[in-house]
Amino acid sequence: MAKDMQIAVVGSGYVGLVAAVCFAEMGHDVICVDNDERKVAALQGGDTLIHEDHLPELLNRYRNTKVRFMTDLAEATRESQAIFIAVGTPQSETGDADLSYVEAVACEIARSINSYKVIVEKSTVPVYTNEWIRKVMERNGVARDLFDVVSNPEFLREGSAVSDFLHPDRIVVGSDTARAAAVLAEVYAPLTTGAYYTNANLIPGVCSVAAPPVLLNTSTKSAEIIKHASNAFLALKISFINAVSNLCEATDANVEQVARGMGLDSRIGPKFLRPGIGYGGSCFPKDVAAFRSVAEQLGIDFSLLTEVEKINESQKKRFLSKVRSALWTLRGKRIGVLGLAFKGETDDIRESPAIDLVEMLLAEGCSVAAYDPAAIKRTEEIMPASTTLRYASSSYDAAQDADALLILTDWQEFATLDLTEMHKALRYPIVIDGRNLYDPSVMLQHGFTYLSVGRPAAH
Ligand code: NAD
Repeated sequence: MAKDMQIAVVGSGYVGLVAAVCFAEMGHDVICVDNDERKVAALQGGDTLIHEDHLPELLNRYRNTKVRFMTDLAEATRESQAIFIAVGTPQSETGDADLSYVEAVACEIARSINSYKVIVEKSTVPVYTNEWIRKVMERNGVARDLFDVVSNPEFLREGSAVSDFLHPDRIVVGSDTARAAAVLAEVYAPLTTGAYYTNANLIPGVCSVAAPPVLLNTSTKSAEIIKHASNAFLALKISFINAVSNLCEATDANVEQVARGMGLDSRIGPKFLRPGIGYGGSCFPKDVAAFRSVAEQLGIDFSLLTEVEKINESQKKRFLSKVRSALWTLRGKRIGVLGLAFKGETDDIRESPAIDLVEMLLAEGCSVAAYDPAAIKRTEEIMPASTTLRYASSSYDAAQDADALLILTDWQEFATLDLTEMHKALRYPIVIDGRNLYDPSVMLQHGFTYLSVGRPAAH
């Protein structure tokens, strides 16, 4: 295994922190830099900061030894051969990606560079970003042979980020020089050669002996486009099945059966054919918007993506109509809500459709008792408890005396509720499931009126 590569990861968020500990797990020495002093102090002091499976184990293994946390990007630049930029690229008002954090990092690297470095775009960035980074370096007087810019997009999913990072489907390296591609090949050699998977100290439950991932070498621009195109395609798949689920509702067909029938076709595949209340999170909404904006700027009609966004937005409104159809009027109704995170097994609430729905319910005059296994703390920061919003201590507490229970996030624990207990807790046994976690016939047997997405109602 490569043991002596010194790597810097800039940004200690969902991607940066996971990348840092996983690179250490692969044998490298890592400096993880963040300009948020409080985050760095918390990480140095033993905090994990985000809810992510297996992250605590890896932090325990490598914190302050193979992974050092600091705010000093200049020092990290000087010490490292490869610098992975993993800062945020949020959506700006125009829909474009806001690349100011990436630019700030590039400027800082330019000021401190002392020998040949590979600057790696790990953040999701639009095509041509590599050229802008190159320009920033050159404008700051850095000689062209002192650096290369590489695109190495990240495909991990929150909730299974550690496992995804160590067992990727593919590793994409977009590079325009053989020298930079060789450095990235060395970074990922523990995975691509399979050496890592023979390590006796693998994390139980995450790392088994696996087929080594494919390393796909492309041009830098192609790699940048691969990431946006992949996320846009996944969002499209979700919107497609959501539109199909609406059609199923109108015809009393069952979208689960339809999705299974479609997914068995190997050209289509079963994944991402799960209908619901729309996609959210920090990636799909902003990446679809950014990709659409790139196409627009290049004079290319990609209005297909506008439709993807439209369907996604309307899915939340349809769900609210479903709640109304079950409860008649909403003002003054007590609603139990299960789930605030944008998806299960994470505490991330960015662009969460669950939060949008809670806001819609409150605006309609409902009172809400909401429970989430990991996302309450983050939600309280943007939506404090009030006379109409209470944060519950369990699923059953959220359901207590409620006129209906809504399932808004696909946490595994919401799929295994004690239905008898839940029936007792609710004022009326009405469950409206935005994630299709239950079999309608089982819900009917337990005496619930059960509405879900794209399936005939059980009542
Ligand atoms: P995040 O907001 O969780 O973390 C970004 C971190 O960068 C923050 O800790 C912030 O303090 C730090 N930062 C900002 N400016 C900095 C600077 N100048 N110097 C040092 N640190 C700085 O973001 P994230 O979810 O980790 O996403 C990072 C990038 O990865 C984005 O481009 C995102 O689209 C992409 N991505 C995210 C995911 C995901 O599931 N979250 C998956 C794949 C790709």
